[in-house]
Amino acid sequence: MSSLRKLCEDGSADATRTTAHIRYPRCMERNTRQRNAIRGAIAQADRPLLPQEVLDAAQREVPGLGIATVYRNLKALTADGELQAVNLPGENPRFELVGHRHHHHFQCRQCQRVFDVHACPGDLSRLAPQGFTIEDHDLTLYGRCADCAPPAQTTRRPAVASAAAPGRTHRHRG
Ligand SMILES: [Zn+2]
Ligand SMILES: [Zn+2]
Repeated sequence: MSSLRKLCEDGSADATRTTAHIRYPRCMERNTRQRNAIRGAIAQADRPLLPQEVLDAAQREVPGLGIATVYRNLKALTADGELQAVNLPGENPRFELVGHRHHHHFQCRQCQRVFDVHACPGDLSRLAPQGFTIEDHDLTLYGRCADCAPPAQTTRRPAVASAAAPGRTHRHRG
């Protein structure tokens, strides 16, 4: 049992429990719960998540979950082939479930969230230089998501903005 006890980082495990139906020490149950919550957060979001977004969602399931645990599990789930990283230029890696078919992404410039785009322009070989062969492509759309898009404009903006003059104060003497 000492080898099992070593798995427990905080030493809180009760590795000596012998009840027949409990097969693992508590720390392993907790690890499984954490991992399920992290995997579930990504599955439920249905879009690539940053580690911080995973933490925010998984904490509802496992209060007290920390960012270091999220990072460790994301790494392990990726190594196990359950998750894959989505790397957008200049961004921290996001994570999505493996097994999606070929798809693309949309990043909202307002809220920075990344969404899946289940459409593809298809054969882009006409864009390649003469004599070049395309083996794969990556496509990211940028704009505003439905939550952040401004309401449809029905009136034209006036040529001169009628902004209120700032810094003007009225004093009332009594
Ligand atoms: Zn947005
Ligand atoms: Zn494509």
